[in-house]
Amino acid sequence: MARIGFIGLGNMGAPMAANLVQAQQHVTGFDILARAGAALAEKGGHAAAGIGEAAAAGEIVITMLPAGPQVREVYFGPDGVLAHARPGALLIDCSTIDVETARAVAEAAAEKGFQMLDAPVSGGVIGAEAASLTFMVGGDDDAFARGEPVLRAMGKTIVHAGPSGSGQTAKICNNMILGASMIAVCEGFALAEKLGLPAQTLFDICSKSTSQCWAMTGYCPVPGPVPAAPSNRGYAAGFTAANMLKDLRLAQQAAGAAAAATPLGAAAANLYQLYVDSGAGGLDFSGIMQFLNRVAPAR
Ligand code: NAD
Repeated sequence: MARIGFIGLGNMGAPMAANLVQAQQHVTGFDILARAGAALAEKGGHAAAGIGEAAAAGEIVITMLPAGPQVREVYFGPDGVLAHARPGALLIDCSTIDVETARAVAEAAAEKGFQMLDAPVSGGVIGAEAASLTFMVGGDDDAFARGEPVLRAMGKTIVHAGPSGSGQTAKICNNMILGASMIAVCEGFALAEKLGLPAQTLFDICSKSTSQCWAMTGYCPVPGPVPAAPSNRGYAAGFTAANMLKDLRLAQQAAGAAAAATPLGAAAANLYQLYVDSGAGGLDFSGIMQFLNRVAPAR
């Protein structure tokens, strides 16, 4: 049984930590929301009183936090992970954050003698609950070999993407492709409707044609063709538009720094910004279908 500290017990972290408990690991968790620690304790884990206590509780420390600023605070703060983790501990950050912060934290961890992995996930809350997440992992071979069995208790597909920051790179590229392809699928359905072609007919054709993609066949943004998709339940998230916007912005930040041409990624970020500004940040990202219908020019 490994001893694991787990910091950040939100929508994703709570079920991930619960799966570690389920896998017979000794999990000590902390979240600034006290009820999240209490919920972990009810499932058989232990609630720590602070970040330092959770960080000192295990030979492995996992974090699942909203964004880069929280990751910096949790790792670099006076009560933080780097100040309190056990000597030689393996630190795994599963949050989706900017590549620069991921590399900075990994460098500071190495200076203190810790191994570190960036290991963002794909699969959402459903995947976190089902322990079927995909982990995209950055870090050296030894750290990956040490972390993989623990990640396996929370996910199905564990990919070693390369050195530090590679996991975050894979994640933001994946989500930039997803955001742009979701908008393209929505535009196709919006145009078909205006031209009088039923959504189901377009789906039946396109799902077997060259425009086939996950945004269409796994998560169709119009109600009907894919019963499990959020479009059939008023676009309740799922993966929120606010989170998609966050990831698209991270992709734009990285593209700017690397001088990569991402005009569609930029357009997708702008459209999701407008959608979120319209008050829809808490809805599923596929709800941008409704937004396109609202802003369509009158005939
Ligand atoms: P969340 O907001 O539900 O959870 C984050 C948790 O971190 C919260 O409970 C919050 O209280 C806690 N927290 C914040 N600052 C803290 C601090 N200083 N100390 C301790 N706890 C602190 O977010 P989430 O949906 O669980 O997402 C977590 C990460 O996973 C994000 O980076 C997100 O982009 C990524 N992600 C989310 C999804 C999804 O579908 N929700 C899918 C893939 C990746």
